[in-house]
Amino acid sequence: MIRSLRARLFVATALVLLLAMAGLLFSLSRVERAWLSDRNADALERHAREVALVLDGTMPASALSERLAAADSASGCRVTLVARDGRVVADSRALADSLENHGDRPEVVAALAGRAGRDIRHSHSLGVDLQYVAVPARAGSEWAVVRVAEPLELVRALDASLLRVSALAIVGVLLASFVLAFWVSNHFASRVKALESVSVRIGAGEDAARALELPADELGRLGAALNRMSAELRARLHALEHERDEREHILAHMTDGVALLDAGNRLVHANASFAELLGAVAQVPSGTPFSEVARSAELDELLARARASHVAVEADLRLWSPRQRFVRAVATRLDPERGEVLLVLHDLTEVERVNRIRQDFVANVSHELRTPLTSLRGYAETLLDGGLEDEARREGFVRVIRDQAERLQALLDDLLSLAELERPEASLRRERFDLRELLARQVAVFQAAAERGGLKLVLEGEGPVEATADRSRLEQVIANLLDNAIKYTERGSVTVRAGTDASRVWCEVADTGPGIPAEDQPRVFERFYRVDKARSRDKGGTGLGLSIVKHIVGLHGGEVSLRSEPGAGSAFRIELPRA
Ligand code: ADP
Repeated sequence: MIRSLRARLFVATALVLLLAMAGLLFSLSRVERAWLSDRNADALERHAREVALVLDGTMPASALSERLAAADSASGCRVTLVARDGRVVADSRALADSLENHGDRPEVVAALAGRAGRDIRHSHSLGVDLQYVAVPARAGSEWAVVRVAEPLELVRALDASLLRVSALAIVGVLLASFVLAFWVSNHFASRVKALESVSVRIGAGEDAARALELPADELGRLGAALNRMSAELRARLHALEHERDEREHILAHMTDGVALLDAGNRLVHANASFAELLGAVAQVPSGTPFSEVARSAELDELLARARASHVAVEADLRLWSPRQRFVRAVATRLDPERGEVLLVLHDLTEVERVNRIRQDFVANVSHELRTPLTSLRGYAETLLDGGLEDEARREGFVRVIRDQAERLQALLDDLLSLAELERPEASLRRERFDLRELLARQVAVFQAAAERGGLKLVLEGEGPVEATADRSRLEQVIANLLDNAIKYTERGSVTVRAGTDASRVWCEVADTGPGIPAEDQPRVFERFYRVDKARSRDKGGTGLGLSIVKHIVGLHGGEVSLRSEPGAGSAFRIELPRA
């Protein structure tokens, strides 16, 4: 079996050529042979007619034999004279009497019928093929047919040499045709091979692969079709890649963890959030067993449930690695036959945290409200139960009631301030002003309280300190800091300073109070956090002052910091951007 197109084309063409040439040679040889014997017979016929013309019916037999012998020696052909009854009258090479009757010879029969007769027969006496031609002669006389005979050797020799020449010419043509057939098969096979290699390159996704479109025959058109197909494929591939990239992009930037699992619980695809939620490497390779990424019996159970269900199943769970997370996991069976499951993890940690903060806050507020309310109720009841008659103490009771009401008022004011500051649309009314002047006013406001506490309250430095900020909110910040400093400092002084550096405006409130232990320092800005609870309550503190300070400074894009050591006082410093 020939597998190469080139060889097949060549062999097929060569076989056709070979058969055609063999057929041609065969028919040529037949035509040549017939033509030659016809021409020879024509010559013999002319000769026989010439002999017939020179014979005379009155001639004696000896004279006839002489004439025939003369004609024979002139032409080299045997000449025979046959009578109407087929008897041989005379012969140039034998005695007439020795010859049998010629009346049944085909050429003689034809000549006796008035036509020239021709025949080719093998002569047993001579051992060669002979050509016989007989013509009618001298009708009405005793003899009637002149027949000439000649061996066919010469004709055969001529025929053989003609055939050799023809065969040589045909072999030459064949060789030339073989060369041409080889070239043509080679040419087409090369073009087909080139198309094949282009299609392989197109299949491999090579953009530059292009097939030859010329010459514009069937192969050229096939090349053009391949090029069109390749362009079409590229366009579709491009569209698909674009679509895939978009999907990947969306998946990659989703905050939810998304993963596709096959029937064997191996990851087909997982986005970065999924890996992050489970504490795995960012790019989980496809085919990774799910158990290697997540060790959670609850998740395994959820996946098993999803595979058995035709609706999505979900569960809220807690993941422990790498850190504690609350997630809502939703598993959906995608294709029952392939057993694929889509697992989506929605991170609820932040929601949980906010919920907890809210719950803590409500608990804290209730707790803060309880003490003054209990106190209010207690004193009011005492008054009603006869306290009103107790002239010595009733004023004291009412004062306590007023103080507790003030405390409630302060708490509510601080809560409202915080609520206001925490609103997402909380905005600042920024203006330019002299910070030192603002500090001076606040120092003046708190001077009396400081004096009552036996403290020295001073504002250090001179000259304006220009700031751009929300003036009234900044007043609230300074008031809270001064209030704390005076509230918690038993003796010594409270010093206020302000200044600017390259990009910031700063202000510091330092005291010589009890200081704050290092472990409490990061927490004093939390809501309701108090270092010394009894003292804070005693002084009418709400536990919200510093968290209000932190909020306001944060809204300005600034920072608040604390330097403090137990026994060595505290210094609160706020820094705001200049512009
Ligand atoms: P409070 O209304 O209780 O003062 P704050 O939020 O203003 O609440 O302060 C939180 C806690 O930080 C206070 O309870 C107090 O224990 C501590 N603190 C604040 N300022 C000072 C200060 N200047 N010196 C010592 N402790 C302070």
